[in-house]
Amino acid sequence: MQCPVCHYTNSRVLESRSAESGKSIRRRRECLQCQHRFTTYERIEFVPITVMKRDGKRESFDRSKLLRGMVRACEKTGLSASDLESIIDEIEAELQQRSQREIPTQEIGELVLQRLKSLSEVAYVRFASVYRQFQGIRDFAEALNHFQRDCENGKAVELAPNSEDSASSCEDSAIEAPPSLCSASLLGSQH
Ligand SMILES: [Zn+2]
Repeated sequence: MQCPVCHYTNSRVLESRSAESGKSIRRRRECLQCQHRFTTYERIEFVPITVMKRDGKRESFDRSKLLRGMVRACEKTGLSASDLESIIDEIEAELQQRSQREIPTQEIGELVLQRLKSLSEVAYVRFASVYRQFQGIRDFAEALNHFQRDCENGKAVELAPNSEDSASSCEDSAIEAPPSLCSASLLGSQH
């Protein structure tokens, strides 16, 4: 690391500690030539994530859009905004570490569902109903059965003949819940 004063490239680390809630390491350094002290931060490289929509269009991963959809699906389920934020943090971190740079919309939806499943049945089914665009009560019942089987078996097991097409019927816009599913929009009513 080049000294900002004399541009000498060797320095000695005096102190290292975690910063920005563990997202970076702060290092206090001393230049080996002029003894000037300076601070550096080390972070995981940020790589932009591109989301591939079902119509083939691409857009940047937008966490606030995803959060809005999740907040609506998770209303009155006991999940707090910070629960949902941490789910998104985890998903974003996971996507960042993939070699694949373009992530299909439906894959992001499935990552959300995986996490909601262990937290709240209601939130899981509601999010699934919006995001997978349920056509009627049959789809809804299937998702519920799926959820129960997954809980009993500890992992997904396909038993119903039609259950595997559910993931392919999802729509990009479904990440955001339509107002009809919400008794009251959380946007504006809280915070
Ligand atoms: Zn120096």
